[in-house]
Amino acid sequence: MPEGHTIHRLARLHQKRFGGAPVIVTSPQERFADSAEAVSGRVLRKADAYGKHLFHHYQGGAVVHVHLGLYGKFTEQQVPMRAPVGQVRMRMVGEEYGTDLRGPTACEVIHQDEVDDIIARLGPDPLRRNPDTEKAWTRISKSRRPIGALLMDQKVIAGVGNVYRNELLYRHLIDPHRPGTHVGAEEFDEAWTDLVALMKVGVRRGRIITIRREDDKGPEGIRGRPRSYVYRRAGEACRICGDTIRTEVMEGRNLFWCPTCQR
Ligand SMILES: [Zn+2]
Repeated sequence: MPEGHTIHRLARLHQKRFGGAPVIVTSPQERFADSAEAVSGRVLRKADAYGKHLFHHYQGGAVVHVHLGLYGKFTEQQVPMRAPVGQVRMRMVGEEYGTDLRGPTACEVIHQDEVDDIIARLGPDPLRRNPDTEKAWTRISKSRRPIGALLMDQKVIAGVGNVYRNELLYRHLIDPHRPGTHVGAEEFDEAWTDLVALMKVGVRRGRIITIRREDDKGPEGIRGRPRSYVYRRAGEACRICGDTIRTEVMEGRNLFWCPTCQR
């Protein structure tokens, strides 16, 4: 599933491609047809991201809300665009570029009050300016749920997915099973600051890089370089202590951790 950095990159790209000009919006697959008609031909004022939610604000107040979920994907091409292939939920055509959206969990037209409701339900997004860090800390420090589960909860922190969860906990030597109530304020502050920096790198580079340069050695990771500390390394040796990386399912997603390094 795309993590927050991917959605923020999309918002920036869409702003660059379509912002400030009218956009032709259609639904070749028909499922989004009525809603597409409501915004088509209007000027895209702003493309914005919050956590894993993407918002296209159009002139007149209508907002296209997209959540990619597990399978959603945008693909881009120059205009004139070729005839749509497959199940294209939404097609946007601007002056020079067009993009197709396939397989999202959500693609709907909403209004500002509904945007506000969605954001109000989310925790702070490390990629937004002035995130309400205190809100995340309050939710973590009062919860007996394991920190590995809390980090995946979008009500606690918005935008974190499975890779950042696993790698962040390793970088801060925190056992993912530790209850939120047992995470120290200082530990949280350090991890939060680190998460903001890591996710900004993700936005800049377009991929998740969590390993420190000096540790980027040993067996190749599942996606080659840069390697990961623990993500998708079950059964392999910890890059620092040599113990075997473990895995189990937590919150429906595979958790990875080093039982020696992470306490
Ligand atoms: Zn280790």
